[in-house]
Amino acid sequence: MNAYKIKMCKRENGCKNAVYKESEISDEIVLLFDGINYTDFIKREIKGPVKSHHQFKVTISCCPNSCPMPQIVDLGIVAASPVMVSNENCSNCNSCINTCIEDAILLDAMKGPKISHDRCVYCAKCAKNCPTETITIKESGFRIMVGGKLGRHARLASELPGIFSKQETLIIVKNSIKLLKENYSGAKRFADLFSIYDENQIFRKIAADFLVN
Ligand code: SF4
Ligand code: SF4
Ligand code: SF4
Repeated sequence: MNAYKIKMCKRENGCKNAVYKESEISDEIVLLFDGINYTDFIKREIKGPVKSHHQFKVTISCCPNSCPMPQIVDLGIVAASPVMVSNENCSNCNSCINTCIEDAILLDAMKGPKISHDRCVYCAKCAKNCPTETITIKESGFRIMVGGKLGRHARLASELPGIFSKQETLIIVKNSIKLLKENYSGAKRFADLFSIYDENQIFRKIAADFLVN
């Protein structure tokens, strides 16, 4: 058994909600674990066979619905497609309002739509349904949650502030594996690192180059 477990959502079954549809990021994450012989490292540390509770668990959700539950694994990656209002004229068709179940769009008949970025979950459904491209996809990337787990001492994951490109996400995954490996004597799961470092320290250690503040 590998000392890591990567679970991707079922978007390949044709899920219409997927906003991440490109090459498998999961394959590249496998290479990150194998590249540092993570399984061999864990076997040496535990002096025995790898069991499920030893595995570094990563889930990848291809939309904000988050089917594989990123909040309760070591590292949860959630595809995100923020939207923006372009210069194209709005036809006041109301499609975006009817599509957005987060009530994140205000529509002014004269000024067009306005997106509430506090409410938006980056599903891009409004952009996909806007006939005039007044609302369009701004960029695509990933939200990243770290340090979730269930069990005797359950903990919900902490979300890094921001949306990260695929390349940035892979670097953050690599840094996260490295951080747990370096601290394995005192932390067996990523969640345990939060009793060694505070949240900001962890964020800086794994994503220093990409954080806004
Ligand atoms: S996370 Fe989103 S894209 Fe993936 S299976 Fe669930 S609903 Fe579909
Ligand atoms: S991206 Fe999704 S949540 Fe955000 S405004 Fe559009 S439909 Fe609503
Ligand atoms: S879907 Fe597009 S055209 Fe229709 S109301 Fe919304 S922004 Fe305007």
